[in-house]
Amino acid sequence: MQQLLPLYYITQMKSMLHHDAEAFLASYAEPRAAGLRLNTLKSGDSASYDDAIAEAKQRFGLQPVPWCADGYYYEEPARPGKHPYHAAGLYYIQEPSAMSSVELLAPLPGETILDLAAAPGGKTTQIAARMQGAGLLIANEIHPARAKILSENVERMGIRNAIVTQAAPDELSARFPQFFDRIMLDAPCSGEGMFRKDPDAIAEWSVEHTQMCAARQADILEHASIMLRPGGVLAYSTCTFNRLENEECIEQFLLRHPEFSLQRMERLWPHEVRGEGHFVAVLRKQADGSDTELSGPSRRGVSKRSRTDGRSRSAASADMELWHAFCSQSLPGFTLGQGQPLRFGEALYWLPQPTGGELPAAALDGLRILRPGLQLGYVRKGRFEPAHALALAVPASSAAWVQSYHGDDPLLAAYLRGETLPATSGSSGWGLVAVEGLPLGWGKASGGQVKNHLPKGLRRP
Ligand code: SAM
Repeated sequence: MQQLLPLYYITQMKSMLHHDAEAFLASYAEPRAAGLRLNTLKSGDSASYDDAIAEAKQRFGLQPVPWCADGYYYEEPARPGKHPYHAAGLYYIQEPSAMSSVELLAPLPGETILDLAAAPGGKTTQIAARMQGAGLLIANEIHPARAKILSENVERMGIRNAIVTQAAPDELSARFPQFFDRIMLDAPCSGEGMFRKDPDAIAEWSVEHTQMCAARQADILEHASIMLRPGGVLAYSTCTFNRLENEECIEQFLLRHPEFSLQRMERLWPHEVRGEGHFVAVLRKQADGSDTELSGPSRRGVSKRSRTDGRSRSAASADMELWHAFCSQSLPGFTLGQGQPLRFGEALYWLPQPTGGELPAAALDGLRILRPGLQLGYVRKGRFEPAHALALAVPASSAAWVQSYHGDDPLLAAYLRGETLPATSGSSGWGLVAVEGLPLGWGKASGGQVKNHLPKGLRRP
């Protein structure tokens, strides 16, 4: 592959790495590093979780990634993405060095966090696991098709406290000045660290492209800085190697923003570690001496069609009565975290709230929202039907009944194809179908059969 690399790129890397350049260039002949990160949000039923992890470790030959406690290398040709564990959100397939930036951002439960360039969701799902369902996470992606994939991954990983938006950075900075405790900016870049994984990326590389990326990164960083509260922490990362998009981008930002200080700057190199390479800089915004409480979201751009008027409030309380009735019958062991009900058409969501503050639903009006929190279900003609997202966000033990199968069981494959299953132990009403105790989706039992409620788009032929 080394022969495919642009000459100017090779010159750039030689002048950066000097005597290490040979080892760096030789790393292109090595196989790429493949990894996955275990999803601790699924540890609610700890015995099932531990057993599934033990099985996954053995099946895929998992070996620990040194810089991420939940990260593992897997041995190709294993295909963990094809196993039902993946559909159940037991893990997220993620390039190992890309796991480093959230480790350095160090999010905590209860914080208010923004992932500004989030699709397909590697860092969002890692941040969410660190938050353990407490606090507010906004995961944003500018590109519509990629935002949809992000939203699907948020659902599969069972994240309860995330709002998924599809907005440009300036749309968000106008609404959320000084709002976030931590911001992850995994910036769009020239992707020099992708060459081994995706040789097509080589054809897109040019000096002009790196310059265009650097200008865009500077612009996005400006908007991120507006949204960070005093005392807050910003992690900037890329999967590219040149200095222009990394050190120089950060140096220029710090010259423009003396209120920020550099806490850490790290690189992972593919010739030094098992990974494709990553750059991370952690910046802190100076505290302003006042208290460190979050500012409220700006009301600018909030449309007059507020969803929190009296009429939708009473609709919400009727919806919540249906929800509570459903829970007492079908999810008796489940309680919602901090939030408020929100209707989008027939869909009922639980809008997460920042700790000690309020995010009124009206603050989201006019923004393109793919997922305003956890979808609880649908309210249709006064009846409640649970959402697929809910099945993935609850421990199996909270359901009225569970039918759990081994990953290789033909009945599990039948469920994933969308087929009806035989009901075991006289169950009736809504319950969960699971792989080794990890929920995959809803079923509705009656007359000895379980009707399949896996969404059609997720069924496998
Ligand atoms: N953080 C993601 C993850 O871990 O899965 C990967 C993000 S990727 C490196 C950068 C993202 O920035 C892409 O999804 C891209 O669509 C998005 N992007 C492109 N142009 C952008 C812009 N002007 N502002 C914000 N995001 C942009």
